[in-house]
Amino acid sequence: MPGISSGRIMSARTLRSAADLAEAGLLPNAAVPAVERVGARYSIAVTPAVAGLVDRADPADPIARQYIPDAAELLTAPHELADPTADEPFTPVKGVVHRYPDRALLKPLLACPVYCRFCFRREAVGADGGVLGEAELEAALAWFARMPAVREAILTGGDPLMLSPRRLGSILGRLSAMPHIELLRVHSRVPVAAPDLVTPALAEALGALERPIYLCVHANHAREFSPAAMEALGRLQRAGVVLLGQSVLLRGVNDSAEALEGLFRAMLRARIKPYYLHQLDPAPGTARFAVPVEEGRALLRALRGRVSGLAWPTYVQERPGGAGKVPLGPAYEEA
Ligand SMILES: *Cc1c(COP(=O)(O)O)cnc(C)c1O
Ligand code: SF4
Repeated sequence: MPGISSGRIMSARTLRSAADLAEAGLLPNAAVPAVERVGARYSIAVTPAVAGLVDRADPADPIARQYIPDAAELLTAPHELADPTADEPFTPVKGVVHRYPDRALLKPLLACPVYCRFCFRREAVGADGGVLGEAELEAALAWFARMPAVREAILTGGDPLMLSPRRLGSILGRLSAMPHIELLRVHSRVPVAAPDLVTPALAEALGALERPIYLCVHANHAREFSPAAMEALGRLQRAGVVLLGQSVLLRGVNDSAEALEGLFRAMLRARIKPYYLHQLDPAPGTARFAVPVEEGRALLRALRGRVSGLAWPTYVQERPGGAGKVPLGPAYEEA
């Protein structure tokens, strides 16, 4: 894959199959045949950094639960959708999603350092990379250039930090040079899932832009903020990148007031402002992660007053059919 930092992340040490996971002691042998079937449908990847965070003695480990496939993924519930956020109808050119007047997504590739079992784009992301070709990337950048109302370019994917610093820097530099682009944003799991990819060269590429750049880090549990992740985040922050956090409310990962408090406090210690807590999108085979909205609201209500207001994210849900994100509350009545 041209332009991807393949040397390290694609190394043999990232676990990419049921057999790899079993060999590493992350999957019981009895589960291998079923997980092979899951792997034929949805990509598997567990980086060494993530494998090192798993507590193998805990069968309900919140890190393992996010990444280790389960036979339940083969069952699609009646309400689950292949494209739950409805990106497709809002795609004017390949790799771009334009749903709101002032901002648009650019997906330069569809590979990630890890594959989350609850991913809302799981039908699209995968190890084959989905990298935009040169002509496709030019067409996507040309689209941004002719959209003066679009003030913010949001790189997502896949994970944009999987690109080489040179390629990522070049894409962001081109966007940053457009007079109407005031703001750049990147959504990524790399700082917590593959912190070794956050090299000085990458931080330099992100820090060298004319426009402000916000990095929205996806993390769902306090333990994801390992010493290596903290170092990666510090490097980005010192380069001038503003750090935000986004999390998904997940059964068995962060569905308690204690877990959410721990997560948001860990973010603040890493100089990250928690931005969004997402309600799970109904992607196929993700039902085991679902937490009802009422329960989510009650969890947030339990945190109010107990943690710094800085720790408080907006709880949001993607409305079906591409209607966009809406805040879910909790709402407060006047006393
Ligand atoms: C989520 C999303 C955004 C960003 O929305 P914010 O509320 O600004 O974080 C932009 N475009 C699309 C298509 C999105 O799905
Ligand atoms: S890192 Fe993001 S896009 Fe990639 S698998 Fe996880 S949730 Fe999906």
